[in-house]
Amino acid sequence: MEEVYPGRLFPLYANRAVANVSVLLRMDKERKLIVAGNWKSNKTNSEAVALVTDLIRELAAVKEVDVVVCPAFTALSDVSKLVLGSNIRLGAQNLSDSGYGAFTGEIAPGMLRELSVRYVILGHSERRQFQKESDALVAKKAANAHANNLIPIVCVGETLAEREASITEKVVETQVRGSLAGLTAEQVESTVLAYEPVWAIGTGKTATSAQAQEVHAFIRKVLVSMHGEAIARRVRIQYGGSVKGSNARELLQQPDIDGALVGGASLESKGFVEIIKNSI
Ligand code: PEP
Repeated sequence: MEEVYPGRLFPLYANRAVANVSVLLRMDKERKLIVAGNWKSNKTNSEAVALVTDLIRELAAVKEVDVVVCPAFTALSDVSKLVLGSNIRLGAQNLSDSGYGAFTGEIAPGMLRELSVRYVILGHSERRQFQKESDALVAKKAANAHANNLIPIVCVGETLAEREASITEKVVETQVRGSLAGLTAEQVESTVLAYEPVWAIGTGKTATSAQAQEVHAFIRKVLVSMHGEAIARRVRIQYGGSVKGSNARELLQQPDIDGALVGGASLESKGFVEIIKNSI
């Protein structure tokens, strides 16, 4: 899985104005940026084909970032053929917690593997909210993903009410521990986490880079307590919530922010390309 641990490129840090200790300590960072577009329930097959065709052309030279697109299931097959041989990887937006069988409406891992899907978004706040997905179910799906060579992108994040009640850390810790429960240390290491404050998703309100960094550092601390320093330092943690070209650079320069999960701004190539180019 070549995109999991290649070292993040040094120039990102060389750009930093402040030579504080935590930045210096991060110069050996083993995490490559990962930016994923979550197209949600948008784009017909032909629209998805048009969008990915633009992205392949515009992003052909990008090597510093793992770029992932996550179209609806109906577009995976055609998009898969187009991204083959490009530097764009394919993700799905959900996965069954089982295999093939009598599970109407579910998508089994083998169906995704045949289309060269590498990533699956799990536990997105919209699924937690509207489909009532629990941490336990997310953990089961994450285990199913790993068992089938798919990399889960596990989403966590607090609501506005939870932030205002000052229980962000408690909520996020419960979600991280619950959604990764039962995974081996090796599986956790290759899992991608996405911190997505619910109040910032699709609202135009972005967490400040300081707010986001604070929670990302906290998540890494939780990972240290679960699996030790060496594993925690390798886990990539994306930020998600109204990321766009104008705020991507500052967010992604934070020491514990290793990429972005992008909704709205990934629906047209100009916006998504700008985020990626601004994060290098
Ligand atoms: C998302 O839904 O994962 C997301 C981050 O959406 P947006 O970028 O539109 O806030």
